[in-house]
Amino acid sequence: MVAVEVSRKFGAENTVLLNHDISGWVESADIKRFKSQVAKRIGIPITFANIKNLPAEELPDQFDVTIQAQAFKVGSGSELCTSRLKTEPFMAYLKEHHPGKDCAIYYGFDANEQHRIQRRVGIMAQMGYKTDYPLALWKDRTIHAIEELGIDRPMQYGSFKHANCIGCLKAGKQHWYIVYCERPDIFEKAKQAEEAIGYSIISDAYLDELEPIFADMKRLGIPASEHITSQTFWAGVRRAGIDTSTDEDRKPCECIF
Ligand code: SF4
Repeated sequence: MVAVEVSRKFGAENTVLLNHDISGWVESADIKRFKSQVAKRIGIPITFANIKNLPAEELPDQFDVTIQAQAFKVGSGSELCTSRLKTEPFMAYLKEHHPGKDCAIYYGFDANEQHRIQRRVGIMAQMGYKTDYPLALWKDRTIHAIEELGIDRPMQYGSFKHANCIGCLKAGKQHWYIVYCERPDIFEKAKQAEEAIGYSIISDAYLDELEPIFADMKRLGIPASEHITSQTFWAGVRRAGIDTSTDEDRKPCECIF
């Protein structure tokens, strides 16, 4: 919607749709469909700023970059994958194409994300870039749902709340339960990454410790969805009688079907 608002206001010819392509193994095909439909509708191609300028089919995923660096986090504790796959290519793009800082950067944060807006304003202003937040700040909005253009939002929103990488290294247990249920191949690679790096992705448990808990949850029909508040979701797990401790002596689920 930001892309639509900005191109309507300033003209598609003055707009760049900057994106970081993500390995098709962890970014669903429907997200790629969504991006390309929006770009087509606006009438300009997507400009991809990718890690090492790699083409889509050669892109590493979040596990490849973390295993290579032997770390899940960088510096002050932010995710290394974001830095390698998104922030660094973005900064390299700005340096190459806008050395004079002759651009404004528009973000999709909405009015409920004031904290993220404040943080982004500060970071980008310090580097000399102007930013704006049409969804949160513009009074003269012309679009309020992408469906107004006849474009369906990505199906990933069916079970996930964000169109992030599947197996997001920033996400919590509820996300990883969905990955366990829907993408066991990604769950396996995440376990391998934890083993190779020697740290857990989630702060208080390794995925192989969570696996038996997730297996019980799946067997007892706990819905794989982020559209249930965390409180309600875990209350449902407890109500189902599932032992969520990761101790070695956790009670096996006695469910027999
Ligand atoms: S969406 Fe998640 S996994 Fe993907 S780059 Fe960002 S933090 Fe990493």
